[in-house]
Amino acid sequence: MTEKTAPRRGLMTDAIHAGETPDPVTRASAPGIVMSTAFLADAGASFSAEDFGDETPYLYTRWKNPTVDQLEQKLAVLEGAEAAVAFGSGMAAITALLLYNLSAGDHLVISDVSYAATAEMTDELIPRLGISVTKVDMSDPENVRNALRPNTRLIYAETPANPIIRLTDVEAIAAIARENGSKFAVDATFASPLGIHPLALGADYVIHSLTKYVCGHGDAIGGAVLGNKMDMAGIKKGIAIRTGGILSPFNAWLIQRGASTLPLRMKAHEEGALIVAQFLEDHPKVTRVIYPGLASHPQHALASRQLENFSGMLTFQVADGAKAATIIADRLSIIHYAVSLGHVRSLVFYLSTDEMLRTSFRMTPAQEQSYREFAGDGIFRLSVGLEDPQDLIADLEYALAGIP
Ligand SMILES: *Cc1c(COP(=O)(O)O)cnc(C)c1O
Repeated sequence: MTEKTAPRRGLMTDAIHAGETPDPVTRASAPGIVMSTAFLADAGASFSAEDFGDETPYLYTRWKNPTVDQLEQKLAVLEGAEAAVAFGSGMAAITALLLYNLSAGDHLVISDVSYAATAEMTDELIPRLGISVTKVDMSDPENVRNALRPNTRLIYAETPANPIIRLTDVEAIAAIARENGSKFAVDATFASPLGIHPLALGADYVIHSLTKYVCGHGDAIGGAVLGNKMDMAGIKKGIAIRTGGILSPFNAWLIQRGASTLPLRMKAHEEGALIVAQFLEDHPKVTRVIYPGLASHPQHALASRQLENFSGMLTFQVADGAKAATIIADRLSIIHYAVSLGHVRSLVFYLSTDEMLRTSFRMTPAQEQSYREFAGDGIFRLSVGLEDPQDLIADLEYALAGIP
Protein backbone atom coordinates (compact mmCIF):
# COMPACT_ATOMS: atom_id res chain seq x y z
CA MET A 1 0.00 0.00 0.00
CA THR A 2 1.33 3.36 -0.96
CA GLU A 3 -0.04 6.70 0.02
CA LYS A 4 -0.86 9.55 -2.29
CA THR A 5 1.79 12.19 -1.66
CA ALA A 6 1.98 14.48 -4.70
CA PRO A 7 -0.24 17.57 -4.80
CA ARG A 8 -2.94 17.45 -7.49
CA ARG A 9 -1.54 18.58 -10.83
CA GLY A 10 -3.09 18.39 -14.27
CA LEU A 11 -4.46 14.96 -15.15
CA MET A 12 -2.06 14.29 -18.01
CA THR A 13 0.90 15.32 -15.85
CA ASP A 14 -0.30 13.11 -13.00
CA ALA A 15 -0.86 10.13 -15.30
CA ILE A 16 2.75 10.38 -16.44
CA HIS A 17 4.62 11.47 -13.32
CA ALA A 18 2.64 10.30 -10.27
CA GLY A 19 4.42 7.51 -8.43
CA GLU A 20 7.52 7.81 -10.59
CA THR A 21 10.91 9.22 -9.63
CA PRO A 22 14.10 8.95 -11.69
CA ASP A 23 16.31 6.14 -10.38
CA PRO A 24 18.73 7.73 -7.88
CA VAL A 25 21.54 5.29 -8.73
CA THR A 26 21.35 5.01 -12.54
CA ARG A 27 19.52 8.34 -13.07
CA ALA A 28 17.22 6.48 -15.52
CA SER A 29 14.32 8.71 -16.55
CA ALA A 30 11.81 5.90 -17.16
CA PRO A 31 10.78 3.59 -14.33
CA GLY A 32 12.63 0.28 -14.05
CA ILE A 33 11.31 -3.11 -12.95
CA VAL A 34 12.39 -4.65 -9.66
CA MET A 35 11.69 -8.36 -10.08
CA SER A 36 13.55 -9.42 -6.94
CA THR A 37 11.39 -11.44 -4.57
CA ALA A 38 13.71 -10.89 -1.59
CA PHE A 39 15.46 -7.75 -0.35
CA LEU A 40 18.52 -7.55 1.90
CA ALA A 41 17.33 -7.20 5.47
CA ASP A 42 18.96 -5.97 8.64
CA ALA A 43 19.69 -8.71 11.16
CA GLY A 44 16.78 -8.82 13.59
CA ALA A 45 14.24 -7.56 10.98
CA SER A 46 10.72 -8.81 11.72
CA PHE A 47 9.16 -11.21 9.21
CA SER A 48 5.57 -11.13 10.36
CA ALA A 49 2.63 -9.61 8.50
CA GLU A 50 1.38 -8.48 11.91
CA ASP A 51 4.25 -5.97 12.09
CA PHE A 52 3.69 -4.67 8.55
CA GLY A 53 3.29 -0.91 8.27
CA ASP A 54 4.22 2.12 6.19
CA GLU A 55 7.74 2.10 7.58
CA THR A 56 8.39 -1.58 6.86
CA PRO A 57 11.36 -1.79 4.48
CA TYR A 58 11.22 -3.95 1.36
CA LEU A 59 11.66 -7.52 2.51
CA TYR A 60 9.67 -9.90 0.33
CA THR A 61 7.66 -9.05 -2.80
CA ARG A 62 4.41 -10.64 -1.56
CA TRP A 63 4.45 -7.91 1.09
CA LYS A 64 5.63 -4.95 -0.87
CA ASN A 65 7.63 -4.25 -4.03
CA PRO A 66 8.97 -0.94 -5.41
CA THR A 67 7.49 -1.43 -8.91
CA VAL A 68 4.07 -2.31 -7.51
CA ASP A 69 4.35 0.67 -5.12
CA GLN A 70 4.86 3.01 -8.07
CA LEU A 71 1.70 1.75 -9.74
CA GLU A 72 -0.34 1.97 -6.52
CA GLN A 73 0.74 5.55 -6.05
CA LYS A 74 -0.14 6.51 -9.62
CA LEU A 75 -3.57 4.86 -9.29
CA ALA A 76 -4.30 6.63 -6.00
CA VAL A 77 -3.49 10.01 -7.52
CA LEU A 78 -5.61 9.37 -10.65
CA GLU A 79 -8.56 8.20 -8.55
CA GLY A 80 -8.16 10.94 -5.92
CA ALA A 81 -7.90 8.23 -3.25
CA GLU A 82 -5.73 8.26 -0.13
CA ALA A 83 -4.28 4.87 -1.02
CA ALA A 84 -4.47 1.88 -3.36
CA VAL A 85 -3.70 -1.83 -3.07
CA ALA A 86 -2.86 -3.69 -6.28
CA PHE A 87 -3.70 -7.35 -6.92
CA GLY A 88 -2.94 -10.04 -9.47
CA SER A 89 -6.39 -9.63 -11.08
CA GLY A 90 -9.61 -7.71 -10.71
CA MET A 91 -11.16 -10.80 -9.12
CA ALA A 92 -8.35 -11.02 -6.53
CA ALA A 93 -9.06 -7.38 -5.64
CA ILE A 94 -12.81 -8.05 -5.31
CA THR A 95 -12.20 -11.18 -3.20
CA ALA A 96 -9.92 -9.23 -0.85
CA LEU A 97 -12.45 -6.41 -0.51
CA LEU A 98 -15.25 -8.87 0.38
CA LEU A 99 -13.10 -10.82 2.84
CA TYR A 100 -11.92 -7.62 4.52
CA ASN A 101 -15.43 -6.29 5.06
CA LEU A 102 -17.54 -9.37 5.66
CA SER A 103 -17.61 -12.07 8.35
CA ALA A 104 -20.04 -14.86 9.19
CA GLY A 105 -23.39 -13.32 10.21
CA ASP A 106 -22.95 -10.22 8.04
CA HIS A 107 -25.16 -9.23 5.12
CA LEU A 108 -24.09 -8.05 1.66
CA VAL A 109 -26.30 -6.13 -0.77
CA ILE A 110 -24.96 -6.42 -4.30
CA SER A 111 -26.06 -5.46 -7.79
CA ASP A 112 -28.04 -8.18 -9.55
CA VAL A 113 -25.99 -7.41 -12.67
CA SER A 114 -22.27 -7.51 -12.18
CA TYR A 115 -19.20 -9.03 -13.73
CA ALA A 116 -20.00 -12.75 -14.17
CA ALA A 117 -17.31 -14.01 -11.77
CA THR A 118 -18.45 -11.50 -9.12
CA ALA A 119 -22.04 -12.69 -9.54
CA GLU A 120 -21.02 -16.34 -9.35
CA MET A 121 -18.75 -15.84 -6.33
CA THR A 122 -21.47 -14.04 -4.39
CA ASP A 123 -23.99 -16.76 -5.31
CA GLU A 124 -21.86 -19.63 -4.10
CA LEU A 125 -18.60 -18.96 -2.27
CA ILE A 126 -19.62 -15.99 -0.12
CA PRO A 127 -22.83 -17.60 1.29
CA ARG A 128 -20.73 -20.68 2.17
CA LEU A 129 -18.84 -18.47 4.62
CA GLY A 130 -22.04 -17.72 6.55
CA ILE A 131 -22.57 -14.33 4.90
CA SER A 132 -26.05 -13.64 3.54
CA VAL A 133 -26.38 -11.95 0.17
CA THR A 134 -29.24 -9.96 -1.35
CA LYS A 135 -29.10 -9.04 -5.03
CA VAL A 136 -30.98 -5.94 -6.16
CA ASP A 137 -31.47 -3.94 -9.33
CA MET A 138 -29.37 -0.92 -8.38
CA SER A 139 -30.69 1.30 -11.16
CA ASP A 140 -33.31 2.27 -8.54
CA PRO A 141 -31.62 3.31 -5.25
CA GLU A 142 -34.85 2.54 -3.37
CA ASN A 143 -34.26 -1.16 -4.07
CA VAL A 144 -31.05 -0.84 -2.06
CA ARG A 145 -32.81 0.93 0.81
CA ASN A 146 -35.48 -1.79 0.94
CA ALA A 147 -32.88 -4.56 1.07
CA LEU A 148 -30.97 -3.14 4.03
CA ARG A 149 -30.78 -4.94 7.36
CA PRO A 150 -29.09 -3.90 10.58
CA ASN A 151 -26.25 -6.32 9.74
CA THR A 152 -25.73 -5.03 6.19
CA ARG A 153 -22.01 -4.36 6.35
CA LEU A 154 -21.38 -3.78 2.66
CA ILE A 155 -23.22 -2.49 -0.39
CA TYR A 156 -21.55 -3.36 -3.68
CA ALA A 157 -22.39 -1.72 -7.01
CA GLU A 158 -20.98 -1.88 -10.50
CA THR A 159 -21.38 1.12 -12.78
CA PRO A 160 -21.67 1.03 -15.74
CA ALA A 161 -22.67 -2.62 -15.15
CA ASN A 162 -20.99 -5.29 -17.24
CA PRO A 163 -22.34 -6.37 -19.68
CA ILE A 164 -25.53 -4.32 -20.19
CA ILE A 165 -24.19 -0.81 -19.41
CA ARG A 166 -26.94 -0.04 -16.92
CA LEU A 167 -25.96 2.76 -14.53
CA THR A 168 -26.15 3.19 -10.78
CA ASP A 169 -26.60 6.52 -9.01
CA VAL A 170 -23.50 6.37 -6.81
CA GLU A 171 -24.29 9.56 -4.89
CA ALA A 172 -27.80 8.39 -3.95
CA ILE A 173 -26.64 4.96 -2.80
CA ALA A 174 -23.72 6.46 -0.87
CA ALA A 175 -26.25 8.52 1.12
CA ILE A 176 -28.36 5.41 1.83
CA ALA A 177 -25.25 3.47 2.90
CA ARG A 178 -24.18 6.23 5.28
CA GLU A 179 -27.63 6.35 6.92
CA ASN A 180 -27.46 2.61 7.57
CA GLY A 181 -23.82 2.62 8.68
CA SER A 182 -22.87 0.31 5.79
CA LYS A 183 -19.74 0.56 3.66
CA PHE A 184 -20.21 1.16 -0.05
CA ALA A 185 -17.98 -0.23 -2.81
CA VAL A 186 -18.15 0.53 -6.53
CA ASP A 187 -16.60 -1.50 -9.34
CA ALA A 188 -15.95 1.25 -11.88
CA THR A 189 -13.93 -0.80 -14.35
CA PHE A 190 -16.15 0.12 -17.33
CA ALA A 191 -15.75 3.84 -16.63
CA SER A 192 -12.00 3.71 -15.84
CA PRO A 193 -10.55 5.92 -13.07
CA LEU A 194 -11.25 8.93 -15.29
CA GLY A 195 -14.91 8.23 -16.08
CA ILE A 196 -16.34 8.42 -12.58
CA HIS A 197 -14.98 9.30 -9.14
CA PRO A 198 -17.03 7.19 -6.72
CA LEU A 199 -15.03 8.30 -3.66
CA ALA A 200 -15.84 11.95 -4.37
CA LEU A 201 -19.51 10.90 -4.73
CA GLY A 202 -19.45 9.34 -1.24
CA ALA A 203 -18.40 5.71 -1.77
CA ASP A 204 -15.87 4.09 0.56
CA TYR A 205 -14.09 1.89 -1.98
CA VAL A 206 -13.44 1.78 -5.71
CA ILE A 207 -12.42 -1.34 -7.59
CA HIS A 208 -10.77 -1.52 -10.97
CA SER A 209 -9.85 -4.47 -13.09
CA LEU A 210 -6.55 -3.00 -14.29
CA THR A 211 -6.67 -5.56 -17.10
CA LYS A 212 -9.07 -3.26 -18.91
CA TYR A 213 -8.65 0.51 -19.49
CA VAL A 214 -5.83 1.18 -17.03
CA CYS A 215 -3.41 -1.23 -18.71
CA GLY A 216 -5.18 -0.54 -21.99
CA HIS A 217 -3.03 -2.75 -24.19
CA GLY A 218 -4.45 -6.20 -23.49
CA ASP A 219 -1.18 -7.67 -22.25
CA ALA A 220 -1.35 -7.72 -18.44
CA ILE A 221 -3.94 -8.85 -15.88
CA GLY A 222 -4.25 -6.90 -12.64
CA GLY A 223 -6.70 -5.35 -10.19
CA ALA A 224 -6.86 -2.70 -7.50
CA VAL A 225 -8.91 -1.55 -4.52
CA LEU A 226 -8.76 2.13 -3.60
CA GLY A 227 -10.00 3.97 -0.54
CA ASN A 228 -8.86 5.54 2.70
CA LYS A 229 -5.45 4.87 4.19
CA MET A 230 -6.71 2.89 7.17
CA ASP A 231 -8.85 0.49 5.14
CA MET A 232 -6.16 0.00 2.52
CA ALA A 233 -3.62 -0.80 5.26
CA GLY A 234 -6.12 -3.32 6.65
CA ILE A 235 -6.69 -4.91 3.26
CA LYS A 236 -2.95 -5.06 2.61
CA LYS A 237 -1.97 -6.51 5.97
CA GLY A 238 -5.06 -8.54 6.77
CA ILE A 239 -5.83 -10.03 3.37
CA ALA A 240 -3.41 -9.31 0.50
CA ILE A 241 -0.20 -10.42 2.22
CA ARG A 242 -1.87 -13.49 3.70
CA THR A 243 -4.01 -14.71 0.83
CA GLY A 244 -1.29 -13.83 -1.66
CA GLY A 245 -3.21 -12.69 -4.75
CA ILE A 246 -0.55 -10.07 -5.38
CA LEU A 247 0.47 -8.40 -8.63
CA SER A 248 3.66 -9.43 -10.44
CA PRO A 249 6.14 -6.51 -10.67
CA PHE A 250 6.38 -7.15 -14.40
CA ASN A 251 2.62 -6.71 -14.82
CA ALA A 252 2.72 -3.67 -12.53
CA TRP A 253 5.33 -2.17 -14.84
CA LEU A 254 3.25 -2.84 -17.96
CA ILE A 255 0.12 -1.45 -16.30
CA GLN A 256 1.82 1.72 -15.03
CA ARG A 257 3.23 2.23 -18.53
CA GLY A 258 -0.30 1.95 -19.92
CA ALA A 259 -1.69 4.23 -17.22
CA SER A 260 0.59 7.09 -18.29
CA THR A 261 -1.49 7.52 -21.48
CA LEU A 262 -4.88 6.85 -19.84
CA PRO A 263 -6.26 10.43 -20.17
CA LEU A 264 -5.39 10.57 -23.87
CA ARG A 265 -6.74 7.10 -24.52
CA MET A 266 -10.02 7.67 -22.67
CA LYS A 267 -10.62 10.83 -24.67
CA ALA A 268 -10.07 8.91 -27.92
CA HIS A 269 -12.13 5.90 -26.75
CA GLU A 270 -15.04 8.22 -25.98
CA GLU A 271 -14.79 10.09 -29.29
CA GLY A 272 -14.55 6.86 -31.30
CA ALA A 273 -17.36 5.15 -29.38
CA LEU A 274 -19.74 8.04 -29.96
CA ILE A 275 -19.09 7.97 -33.72
CA VAL A 276 -19.52 4.18 -33.86
CA ALA A 277 -22.64 4.32 -31.63
CA GLN A 278 -24.25 6.90 -33.91
CA PHE A 279 -23.44 4.80 -36.98
CA LEU A 280 -24.99 1.72 -35.35
CA GLU A 281 -28.04 3.63 -34.19
CA ASP A 282 -28.70 4.67 -37.81
CA HIS A 283 -28.08 1.19 -39.24
CA PRO A 284 -31.27 -0.55 -40.50
CA LYS A 285 -30.23 -3.98 -39.17
CA VAL A 286 -29.44 -2.72 -35.67
CA THR A 287 -32.47 -2.74 -33.42
CA ARG A 288 -30.95 -1.09 -30.36
CA VAL A 289 -27.78 0.65 -29.20
CA ILE A 290 -26.94 1.28 -25.56
CA TYR A 291 -24.23 3.88 -25.00
CA PRO A 292 -24.24 6.35 -22.07
CA GLY A 293 -23.20 9.17 -24.40
CA LEU A 294 -26.30 8.78 -26.60
CA ALA A 295 -29.47 10.67 -25.70
CA SER A 296 -31.29 7.35 -26.22
CA HIS A 297 -29.61 5.69 -23.19
CA PRO A 298 -32.47 5.23 -20.69
CA GLN A 299 -30.30 6.83 -18.00
CA HIS A 300 -28.65 9.50 -20.14
CA ALA A 301 -29.43 12.20 -17.56
CA LEU A 302 -27.65 10.23 -14.82
CA ALA A 303 -24.80 9.50 -17.23
CA SER A 304 -24.39 13.20 -17.97
CA ARG A 305 -24.43 14.01 -14.26
CA GLN A 306 -22.04 11.35 -12.95
CA LEU A 307 -19.84 10.21 -15.83
CA GLU A 308 -16.93 12.47 -16.67
CA ASN A 309 -16.11 10.31 -19.70
CA PHE A 310 -18.63 8.05 -21.46
CA SER A 311 -15.91 5.47 -22.11
CA GLY A 312 -15.58 3.18 -25.12
CA MET A 313 -18.10 0.51 -24.10
CA LEU A 314 -21.37 0.10 -25.96
CA THR A 315 -23.81 -2.68 -26.75
CA PHE A 316 -25.97 -3.24 -29.82
CA GLN A 317 -28.70 -5.67 -30.78
CA VAL A 318 -29.81 -7.21 -34.05
CA ALA A 319 -32.63 -9.66 -34.85
CA ASP A 320 -31.61 -13.27 -34.12
CA GLY A 321 -28.34 -12.24 -32.47
CA ALA A 322 -27.06 -15.76 -31.86
CA LYS A 323 -27.12 -16.53 -35.60
CA ALA A 324 -25.80 -13.08 -36.48
CA ALA A 325 -22.86 -13.59 -34.09
CA THR A 326 -21.44 -16.37 -36.26
CA ILE A 327 -21.76 -14.22 -39.38
CA ILE A 328 -20.34 -11.11 -37.74
CA ALA A 329 -17.41 -12.98 -36.15
CA ASP A 330 -16.59 -14.43 -39.55
CA ARG A 331 -16.77 -11.18 -41.52
CA LEU A 332 -14.95 -8.78 -39.17
CA SER A 333 -11.35 -8.10 -40.09
CA ILE A 334 -10.22 -5.25 -37.81
CA ILE A 335 -12.43 -5.75 -34.77
CA HIS A 336 -11.50 -8.92 -32.91
CA TYR A 337 -14.27 -11.25 -31.81
CA ALA A 338 -12.99 -11.77 -28.26
CA VAL A 339 -13.77 -11.17 -24.60
CA SER A 340 -12.21 -8.47 -22.40
CA LEU A 341 -12.38 -4.74 -23.02
CA GLY A 342 -10.66 -1.39 -22.72
CA HIS A 343 -7.79 -2.30 -25.02
CA VAL A 344 -6.33 -0.31 -27.90
CA ARG A 345 -7.75 -3.02 -30.19
CA SER A 346 -11.52 -3.08 -30.64
CA LEU A 347 -13.17 -6.21 -29.24
CA VAL A 348 -16.70 -7.50 -29.72
CA PHE A 349 -18.48 -10.43 -28.07
CA TYR A 350 -22.05 -11.73 -28.21
CA LEU A 351 -23.79 -12.42 -24.88
CA SER A 352 -27.05 -14.32 -25.13
CA THR A 353 -29.57 -13.17 -22.54
CA ASP A 354 -30.91 -16.69 -21.89
CA GLU A 355 -27.36 -17.95 -21.44
CA MET A 356 -26.37 -15.12 -19.05
CA LEU A 357 -29.51 -15.67 -16.98
CA ARG A 358 -28.83 -19.41 -16.84
CA THR A 359 -25.10 -19.35 -16.04
CA SER A 360 -24.35 -16.10 -14.21
CA PHE A 361 -27.38 -14.23 -12.90
CA ARG A 362 -30.03 -15.59 -10.58
CA MET A 363 -32.87 -13.11 -10.80
CA THR A 364 -36.37 -12.43 -9.59
CA PRO A 365 -38.97 -11.92 -12.36
CA ALA A 366 -38.77 -8.12 -11.89
CA GLN A 367 -34.96 -8.18 -12.12
CA GLU A 368 -35.12 -10.39 -15.20
CA GLN A 369 -37.55 -7.96 -16.82
CA SER A 370 -35.18 -5.05 -16.18
CA TYR A 371 -32.28 -7.10 -17.63
CA ARG A 372 -34.30 -7.99 -20.73
CA GLU A 373 -35.32 -4.34 -21.20
CA PHE A 374 -31.64 -3.54 -21.62
CA ALA A 375 -30.41 -6.68 -23.33
CA GLY A 376 -33.33 -8.07 -25.37
CA ASP A 377 -32.50 -11.63 -26.41
CA GLY A 378 -28.82 -10.86 -26.46
CA ILE A 379 -26.28 -8.13 -26.95
CA PHE A 380 -23.10 -7.54 -28.84
CA ARG A 381 -20.77 -5.94 -26.31
CA LEU A 382 -18.38 -3.74 -28.24
CA SER A 383 -15.26 -2.25 -26.71
CA VAL A 384 -14.34 0.52 -29.13
CA GLY A 385 -10.57 0.64 -29.40
CA LEU A 386 -8.29 3.32 -30.73
CA GLU A 387 -8.38 2.48 -34.44
CA ASP A 388 -9.68 5.16 -36.83
CA PRO A 389 -13.46 5.24 -36.29
CA GLN A 390 -14.14 5.20 -40.06
CA ASP A 391 -12.26 1.88 -40.32
CA LEU A 392 -14.32 0.41 -37.48
CA ILE A 393 -17.49 1.61 -39.20
CA ALA A 394 -16.41 0.04 -42.50
CA ASP A 395 -15.65 -3.22 -40.67
CA LEU A 396 -19.06 -3.23 -38.97
CA GLU A 397 -20.82 -2.21 -42.19
CA TYR A 398 -19.37 -5.21 -44.00
CA ALA A 399 -20.08 -7.58 -41.09
CA LEU A 400 -23.70 -6.41 -40.73
CA ALA A 401 -24.23 -6.70 -44.49
CA GLY A 402 -23.76 -10.47 -44.12
CA ILE A 403 -26.89 -10.78 -41.97
CA PRO A 404 -29.78 -11.96 -44.19
C1 LIG B 1 -12.97 -7.87 -16.10
C2 LIG B 1 -13.76 -7.36 -14.99
C3 LIG B 1 -13.54 -7.82 -13.68
C4 LIG B 1 -12.54 -8.89 -13.35
O1 LIG B 1 -11.24 -8.49 -13.62
P1 LIG B 1 -10.05 -9.53 -13.96
O2 LIG B 1 -8.87 -8.63 -14.07
O3 LIG B 1 -10.42 -10.23 -15.23
O4 LIG B 1 -9.97 -10.48 -12.80
C5 LIG B 1 -14.29 -7.26 -12.66
N1 LIG B 1 -15.23 -6.34 -12.91
C6 LIG B 1 -15.49 -5.88 -14.15
C7 LIG B 1 -16.55 -4.85 -14.36
C8 LIG B 1 -14.77 -6.38 -15.24
O5 LIG B 1 -15.05 -5.95 -16.47
